[in-house]
Amino acid sequence: MLIRWDKTVASDLDSEHSLGVLVVGSIEQHSNYLPLGTDSLLGERLACEAAEQADARILLLPVQRVGFSPHHSAFPGLLTLRHNVMTDYLTDLCESAFRTGLPRLLIINSHGGNQSALQGVVNRLGAEFGREAILVRYWDLISDIVPSIRKSEPGGMGPCGRV
Ligand SMILES: [Zn+2]
Repeated sequence: MLIRWDKTVASDLDSEHSLGVLVVGSIEQHSNYLPLGTDSLLGERLACEAAEQADARILLLPVQRVGFSPHHSAFPGLLTLRHNVMTDYLTDLCESAFRTGLPRLLIINSHGGNQSALQGVVNRLGAEFGREAILVRYWDLISDIVPSIRKSEPGGMGPCGRV
C-alpha cells in the first residue's frame, strides 16, 4: 500500500508500522528527447508501482529531485548540489523521518552520480544515529527485465547513450 508522506495527515502517518522509501534523482540533461527530471521521474514511478503492489505499508517520502551531477555542467538545465551539502541535507531529512518512529528506510538511488553521497548518508545514519537505512540503485532492481522492455540497442538507455 502506497502512502505519500506529504499527502497524508499527521495522525494517519503511522510511521511505526511502515517501511519508509526515499527516492533521490537528479535534474540534468537527458539529450534532447527526454525531460530534465527523467531520473527522478523513473525512480518515483518505480517506487510508486512497487508500493501499490506491496502487502506492506509503504511511506514514500517526498522525492528528492536534485542530486549530485556536476559532470553534466556543460549541458543546459542542470540543477545540482555540492556533495557535502547533499549528504548533510539528506542525513538530516532521513534522521527526522526516523524520529517519527519509522523503523526502516529504503533509499532508492535514481541517478548514478548520487551513489557516493547516498552511501555517505547511510554511513552517517548508522554511525551518528544508530539508524539502519538500505541503499539500492533502481537499475539493479530491474536488470533482469530490461532486455525484454528496452527499445534501444545496448548503450541507448543512458543520458549520453552509455547504458
Ligand atoms: Zn542521471
